[in-house]
Parts: sequence; structure tokens; C-alpha cells
Amino acid sequence: MKYDTQKFKLIKNQEIATGIFDWVVENKELPALAKCGQFAHVKVPGKTLRRPISICDATDTTLRLVFQVKGEGTEIMSKMKVGDEVEILAPLGNGFKIEKGKKYCFIGGGIGVPPMLYTAKQAENPLVITGFRDKSLVILQDDFKKAGAEVVLTTDDGSAGIHGFVTDVLKERLNEIGEVCACGPIPMLKAIAEICKDKVPCQISLEERMGCGIGACLVCACKTKLNGEEGYTHVCKDGPVYNAEEVVL
Ligand SMILES: Cc1cc2nc3c(=O)[nH]c(=O)nc-3n(C[C@H](O)[C@H](O)[C@H](O)COP(=O)(O)OP(=O)(O)OC[C@H]3O[C@@H](n4cnc5c(N)ncnc54)[C@H](O)[C@@H]3O)c2cc1C
Repeated sequence: MKYDTQKFKLIKNQEIATGIFDWVVENKELPALAKCGQFAHVKVPGKTLRRPISICDATDTTLRLVFQVKGEGTEIMSKMKVGDEVEILAPLGNGFKIEKGKKYCFIGGGIGVPPMLYTAKQAENPLVITGFRDKSLVILQDDFKKAGAEVVLTTDDGSAGIHGFVTDVLKERLNEIGEVCACGPIPMLKAIAEICKDKVPCQISLEERMGCGIGACLVCACKTKLNGEEGYTHVCKDGPVYNAEEVVL
């Protein structure tokens, strides 16, 4: 795995839904190395620890990062200006493995939706199921359509799209799906893993509080079950993407 820390230039910063910001950052070298499901570790001015943000999309010279303001770090990021320099360590982690000729279903819940965009771009005619709490948080629907995906929108309160959960749609469409890839809150991932168990392979991307991002500080431990044995691996280095049956959720 090749990664590095370099200066990027912020070339777009736009609020695309309530408290959710769309960044595009430019650098000549690192974006070309990015694979779907990997993440960028962003140095926030005035903060010691970096903030991990999934790669939402990439070109040879740009990374797109979509983030929700949660605390001080992301608040500072939301206020940065186009033209500002940002130091980013990227691309980190192991992403989704996408095979040719399979019918993929990509599922994103809330702020777990952004990494599914670059991932959906790696597959042919994918089904994308996105779920949000309500219509004020809906993001990236047109981007998925432009990428050639069939995109289904659900909201918990029915204020946009189908009234219900992503899992309702997954259950209905399971027989046409060859593999599932998902990112979002743990209860959603747990329910998806349960539906897929013994039926279709399922990869899930975990978010765990992390420090260094490269497996040195061991903060982001995650309980896993490999070859029947329970143990711990680290989300930053061994993940964030795992086969669902390997994770003790
Ligand atoms: C692999 C990965 C990918 C992520 N991708 C995205 C994304 O695409 N968009 C997005 O909005 N958010 C994403 N997150 C969550 C995001 O990193 C946190 O919301 C962010 O770090 C919060 O920082 P803060 O300073 O605003 O909040 P604070 O709560 O003030 O943060 C304090 C500390 O806790 C850490 N922290 C807080 N919440 C989380 C969390 N959920 N996960 C990991 N560390 C956390 C921060 O990095 C910081 O070190 C991702 C997390 C991981 C691990």
C-alpha cells in the first residue's frame, strides 16, 4: 500500500445539505493512487489529531471529500476557504474489492453514503440504496445517476423517497444481487449482514475513532473473527472495509 502526506489545494467547499460539506482538493500525485473505500486523513489547522474522511470520488489530480460537521475539527474544515492549503495523508486503508461481471448493490446510510459513489463507479449497472433520516440530509442522488447507477432513496420519516429503511429495499431486491457493499451506522450494517448471511457476499466499511491512521497507535481496534478465532484488528490498517462475516458487530 502506497500513501504519503502532502499539501493539497482546496478548490471547492460547498454546503450541499444541512451541515454537510462537499470538498474538492487538488494534488498532482496522491489522488491517482486512491481506490474506492479508502480514506484521507486531514490535518485540521490548530488540531493535533487528523480527521479521517472517506474518499467520495477521485480523479488523477483531485479527491472529493464529503463530510458532516460533528465537532470542532469538522467545523473548522467547513469554514476553510477555496485556495487554502490542506495537509492530507492519503490514500489510507483497504477499500472495497469489486469484481467484473457481478451485480453489485451498494448501500449507504447517512454520512456513510459518500464512499459509495467512487465505489459505484467501479461496477457495471449497480443498484445503489441510500438512506437518510429526513430530506434535509439527502445528498449525492444526481451524482449516482450520472455514474449510471439505479439509485433508490429512502428516508426514516418519509419526507423524501420511500418511507422506510435501506434494509426494506435490500430484502425485496436480494434475489437479483450478486454482492453487497455497505457503509453507515453499525445497527444498519448489522441488519444488512444478517440479511446477506449465507445468501450473498457482503463487505462492510467501519468507522472507528482513530489516531494515527496507519496502524501505529492501535486506537481503532475492532473485534473480528478470522478462521473461527476471535481477536482484534485495526480499522485504519486492516479495514475500514471487512467481509461482514469477519466482524463481530
Ligand atoms: C475510515 C473513516 C471514514 C470516515 N469518513 C467520513 C466521511 O466520509 N464523512 C464524514 O462526515 N465523516 C467521516 N468519518 C467520521 C469523521 O472522521 C468524524 O466525524 C470526525 O473525525 C469528527 O471530528 P470532529 O473534530 O468534528 O469531532 P470531535 O468529536 O470533536 O472529534 C474528536 C476526535 O474524535 C475523532 N472522531 C470523532 N468522531 C469520529 C468518528 N465517527 N470516527 C472516527 N473518529 C472520530 C476525531 O477524529 C477527533 O480525533 C469517517 C471516520 C472514519 C474512521
